[in-house]
Amino acid sequence: MITFLDIKNINLQYRQELIEACTSVIDSGWYIQGNECNKFEEEFSSYCGSKYTVGVANGLDALILIMRAYIELGDFNENDEVIVPSNTYIASILAISKNNLTPVLVEPSMDTYNIDINKIEDKITSKTKAIMVVHLYGQAVEMESILSLAKKYDLKVIEDSAQAHGAYDKNKRVGSIGDASGFSFYPGKNLGALGDGGAVTTDDESLANTIRALGNYGSHKKYENLYKGTNSRLDEIQAAMLRVKLKYLDSEIKHRRQIANYYLDNIKNENLLLPNIKEQSSHVWHLFVIRAKRRGEVQKYLSQNGIQTLIHYPVPPYKQEAYSEWSNQKFYISEMIHDEVLSLPISGIQNIEDTIKIVEVVNGFK
Ligand SMILES: *Cc1c(COP(=O)(O)O)cnc(C)c1O
Repeated sequence: MITFLDIKNINLQYRQELIEACTSVIDSGWYIQGNECNKFEEEFSSYCGSKYTVGVANGLDALILIMRAYIELGDFNENDEVIVPSNTYIASILAISKNNLTPVLVEPSMDTYNIDINKIEDKITSKTKAIMVVHLYGQAVEMESILSLAKKYDLKVIEDSAQAHGAYDKNKRVGSIGDASGFSFYPGKNLGALGDGGAVTTDDESLANTIRALGNYGSHKKYENLYKGTNSRLDEIQAAMLRVKLKYLDSEIKHRRQIANYYLDNIKNENLLLPNIKEQSSHVWHLFVIRAKRRGEVQKYLSQNGIQTLIHYPVPPYKQEAYSEWSNQKFYISEMIHDEVLSLPISGIQNIEDTIKIVEVVNGFK
């Protein structure tokens, strides 16, 4: 069986270095808020091209804390609205709800599966405070028109970059384009820790300081609590693992791109639609997502021929029990995407033999 994502072998590439990094944290006797996290924050800022990085416990917290900080700083108030794509992973939307802000769903474009810029302006009201873009599947949103819309209506732009570490829009990397960006280092992400982890990047010093305090019980200074904060920190072991893996991220992205290009050049099957890309650098191929009207049959056929695939995502957030208040809303584009998408295996270590086999099998679907 060709597995969808072989996380074990991804990490085994760096086994020796990971063990050394882990040992050094164990021996240091310092496990939270130390040198490894500080160094990782510096290195990740320099990788993304942002002034500040704040390590947090996971990607969901990164997004929650960005909006919580805007509330504490007086930029957002309860019940304000945040625009977000209707087909995102539910975490983007949960982060908005968690702050008692109102998610306003906007359909994606069929071309990129990212938010449809032409549908945003209609949804802006006097309560709108931000646009959250999601660089879905690893493809950077084209930010220019989003930024000018945000400027026109005085909105913050929040990036959900959980799937797109290293992707470029024009000459800027995600995480350095909007006002603030949330990253996830969940083990299966392109930059994955060996446990949970996340980070916020921003150029805004007061936002960065507020997020850092909020993630540390609301405290800037030991035993002084400005806010009713929470505990959300990137621990030293995970930061050390991420420092090892960050060094190899660009070469893993390059490898993913080679596989994606091989798929794009060689998959030829009229039953399937392939992804569209604008620029090579704009997509880091967290997922290689095809579409098929007969998705169920394609998935079953691939599985019977030894290829594991997954669906990102089978049920849209607005159809989940958790959001039953939206059960009568209709999003036709999202619906079609959720009914048709199928993710083929892709990773920084997938070999050419497997890649060729996948193409042969996919092309054989009738
Ligand atoms: C993974 C993911 C998150 C959440 O990250 P966690 O680290 O799992 O909390 C948020 N948004 C998107 C788009 C994701 O893919």
